[in-house]
Amino acid sequence: MLMCREATRLMSKRLDVPLGIQEKMALKFHLAMCGACKQCNKQFQLLHDAGRVLEHQTTAMPFDGDGDSR
Ligand SMILES: [Zn+2]
Repeated sequence: MLMCREATRLMSKRLDVPLGIQEKMALKFHLAMCGACKQCNKQFQLLHDAGRVLEHQTTAMPFDGDGDSR
C-alpha cells in the first residue's frame, strides 16, 4: 500500500507529467481512504489552477514597461 509521503510525491508529479496507470491507481486508492491526503490533493489542485490562471493573465496582459500609467 502507498504511504502518504509517496502519495504526496505522486500528486506533485502528476502536475508536471501524466502518471502511469499503476501510479494513478495507487494514488486513487490511497486518496479513497486517507482523509489527510485527500485534503492535500485538493490543495495541489487549487495551487495548480491558480498557477494556470496567473500564467494566463500574464500572457493576456503583456508587460509594457510603465506599470502605473492609468
Ligand atoms: Zn495519506
